[in-house]
Amino acid sequence: METVDAIVIGSGQGGVPLAVDLAKEGRKVVLFERDALGGSCINYGCTPSKAFLAAAHAVGRARQAENLGIRFQVDVNFSSVMERVRSIRDSFNQGTKKRLDAGVKVVCAEASFTDERTVTGGDVTVQANLVIINTGTSSLIPDLNGLAGTPYLTNRNFFDLQKLPPRLLVMGGGYIGLELGQGLARLGSETHIIVRGDRILDREETDVSETLAQALKEDGIKLHFNTKVEKVTHDDIFTLTLNNGEQLQGEALLVATGRKPNTNALNVAATGVELDEKGYIKIDDRFQTTCSGIYAIGDVAKQPAFTHVSWEDYRRLKAILCGENRTRNDRVLGYATYTEPQVGRVGMTLEQATQAGIKARAVTLPMNQIARAIEWGHKFGFYRMVVDEETDKILGATLVGYETAELVHVFLSLMEAKATWQLLEQSVHIHPTYGEALPSLARLFIGDDMPGCPNM
Ligand SMILES: Cc1cc2nc3c(=O)[nH]c(=O)nc-3n(C[C@H](O)[C@H](O)[C@H](O)COP(=O)(O)OP(=O)(O)OC[C@H]3O[C@@H](n4cnc5c(N)ncnc54)[C@H](O)[C@@H]3O)c2cc1C
Repeated sequence: METVDAIVIGSGQGGVPLAVDLAKEGRKVVLFERDALGGSCINYGCTPSKAFLAAAHAVGRARQAENLGIRFQVDVNFSSVMERVRSIRDSFNQGTKKRLDAGVKVVCAEASFTDERTVTGGDVTVQANLVIINTGTSSLIPDLNGLAGTPYLTNRNFFDLQKLPPRLLVMGGGYIGLELGQGLARLGSETHIIVRGDRILDREETDVSETLAQALKEDGIKLHFNTKVEKVTHDDIFTLTLNNGEQLQGEALLVATGRKPNTNALNVAATGVELDEKGYIKIDDRFQTTCSGIYAIGDVAKQPAFTHVSWEDYRRLKAILCGENRTRNDRVLGYATYTEPQVGRVGMTLEQATQAGIKARAVTLPMNQIARAIEWGHKFGFYRMVVDEETDKILGATLVGYETAELVHVFLSLMEAKATWQLLEQSVHIHPTYGEALPSLARLFIGDDMPGCPNM
């Protein structure tokens, strides 16, 4: 058995750059990966889903151009759409391989611990004083009558689709089901989304869910709320029997009902690494598990499950390993849902701030008061900002609308700088832009009842 300086398990968004940096410093590093190099983001998450949505939203926008007086004849070449998606995915995957060539020994096998410092995978067993777990999550498949053994889709095989399913059934109203469901609907599938609760994106505020539901309905998507699937049968087509007795049929079924941590295969019982009740790895503020020398980063450590978080975990863990006094607690985190309209989020909602004991207040600017939205013909959405009443500091923002995943970065930077809403209010933003609506939003705190652009 070989002794090395560091072992990385999983080639996720944090594990790869950390392995590469350590190797570049001249340390002996072994990285285990049981599937495609680059993890979920590159192979079956962000990259293919956003490349796919570029095509789907192009179709949606072409159809919506009718509101501008233009009618397009839309012709979808589904196999070209998916070929493009797969070629982008493959090129990113090759990029990861090249990066790891910088001296990391890659073992293409599932890894598990045999004791606190020893990891085995394939025919390789190594020992190190430093072990980093970056094994991510995978789809949580419900234990449903008839589902097992059917050719259902998850994010794992969705991007291998060769033909556009004429009818698509989606189980789950979270962001994966909505993004992929809206995508296929826009490309031409008759789409049903089955939601257990009474709204989609139920971690967001109610009006976010409602706005998105309206937009999805306009795309022709049928939303089934408070509905459970009781039985699945498959015989060329899927038939779902719902708890209300209704039956739905489709050529494809996408299961997007949640995620589970990839910890089963790790055999953490051989170490002192503890898991929480859902199987996520418990870590302290400095990413250390309950076993000294073993760290966990990214989704598997129950960090907010996004690529930029896993990557930032790597930067912070690297600083910690270099002796710097860093933690994972002092960062401003945002995320986005890439439906149309998009949802750009950062920080706390008013309810979250109040629950945290902060005296907070919020203002909301509807889309119909934004000049740019009227000019472009975008009707769905609103901008909201939450501030601390005592310090005036910005605590959070929710932007629902066109490309808000971009715009929300204004708030990310302001919050990183611990800015007040007055700073935003004083900024002279360019007219006519969506960006100019942000000082307008801040102006609502001074009771300006015409906060929009001067022309409205
Ligand atoms: C459909 C979809 C869309 C998404 N879109 C976005 C988005 O737009 N923006 C965003 O920020 N995030 C998005 N995400 C989330 C994002 O993909 C993850 O948060 C991100 O990949 C970070 O994951 P990670 O670094 O924790 O691990 P992962 O990227 O999940 O990588 C973990 C790796 O570990 C490997 N592994 C697991 N167990 C073992 C083992 N025992 N031995 C060896 N290898 C093992 C896995 O095969 C995998 O390659 C999306 C996810 C999905 C599913």
